[in-house]
Amino acid sequence: MPWYDDGLQFECTVCGRCCGGGSGYVWVTQDDIGAMAKHLGLVPLVFEQAFVWTVRGHKRSLKEYPNGDCVMLSEKSRGCKVYEQRPVQCRTWPFWEQNTDIPASWKITAKFCPGCNRGRLYSAAEIEERRQQF
Ligand code: SF4
Ligand code: SF4
Repeated sequence: MPWYDDGLQFECTVCGRCCGGGSGYVWVTQDDIGAMAKHLGLVPLVFEQAFVWTVRGHKRSLKEYPNGDCVMLSEKSRGCKVYEQRPVQCRTWPFWEQNTDIPASWKITAKFCPGCNRGRLYSAAEIEERRQQF
C-alpha cells in the first residue's frame, strides 16, 4: 500500500513557476509534438523546427527564452499556450515518481509548487496512473 493511499491534493495556482524562471527541460514525444502543433494550427515539422531542440543528440525538449521561460508560456498571462495539449511531462506534474516516492519528496515538491496540498483530491489510482506515464 503506497504512503499516499488516501490520495493527495493538487490544484494549480497558475503561478508559472514550473514553466519558467529557470533553465530546465520539457521533454516531448512525437505524440506531444503532434498534439501541440495541431492545437496551434501548425504541421508537426514546422512546430518542431520552431519550438523544439534536440538535447545530447537524441532527446527532444521544448525551447526556452533566455530568461528560462518555456517557449509555450505566455509572457502576459503566465499561462500555457497549449495547456489542453501540453506534454505528458506537464500533464503528470506533480505526481512524478521522483516527487511521490516518499513523503519527504512530496514535501520538497510542495515547497516548490504552491498547488500541492490544496484543491482537488487525487486518488491513489490516479496518482499511480500519472507516475507510470512519466
Ligand atoms: S508550480 Fe505548481 S502551482 Fe505553479 S504553475 Fe506549476 S503546477 Fe501550477
Ligand atoms: S508546455 Fe506549457 S505547461 Fe509545459 S512547461 Fe511549457 S508552458 Fe508549462
